[in-house]
Amino acid sequence: MPASQPSVLVVEDEAAQREVLAYNLQAEGYDVARAESGDDALLLVEEAPPDVIILDWMLPGVSGIEICRRLKSRTETRSIPVIMLTARSEEGDRVRGLEIGADDYVVKPYSVAELMARVRTQLRRIRPTTVGMRLEFEDIVLDSETYKVTRNKRPIKLGPTEFRLLATFMDKPGRVWSREQLLDRVWGRDIYVDTRTVDVHVGRLRKALCKHGGTNPVRTVRSAGYALG
Ligand code: CA
Repeated sequence: MPASQPSVLVVEDEAAQREVLAYNLQAEGYDVARAESGDDALLLVEEAPPDVIILDWMLPGVSGIEICRRLKSRTETRSIPVIMLTARSEEGDRVRGLEIGADDYVVKPYSVAELMARVRTQLRRIRPTTVGMRLEFEDIVLDSETYKVTRNKRPIKLGPTEFRLLATFMDKPGRVWSREQLLDRVWGRDIYVDTRTVDVHVGRLRKALCKHGGTNPVRTVRSAGYALG
């Protein structure tokens, strides 16, 4: 396969589900790696970091949520988008999954077509069309070629969703974005994501931007949405 082939790691202990996913991902042209357990997944990610990880919540041994937490707490792996698969459909679990750093969340039983759309969305996000764009707002600088963000010249680490959110805000400072507009722009129109997801990621973006001090630059506009500055 060519080196530019996007790669997807499927972490699922149930063989039938794992193979269905691998089959469909290969049919879409992805390079697919498989892991049956969280420990296998961590080893594989270390050996060959994939572009996207599909991670089942319920795994024997180390749970999917713990794997996600570990991946997102390490500098080398935190920018890899993680799509969590789960049988839990309760809103609290969904928010919990997003809070520990999952980039998206799909409830079983899922439609394979929908999951494929979400993989494409994650890939679009890490490989944006606006390559080479450099945006500045006050002391924040975003470079979409190197994926680096700095504030007051100090590096800010962001996950792919937060990076794209910030790029959207910085593209039009002062503009008020509704949650629905942010969903369209950052997550993509072809998938269903709850508007509360936007709040979770905006919260994460604010936290990252204020890590070294400084005021929160992302305003909440009552009953309207969010704006930068
Ligand atoms: Ca499972």
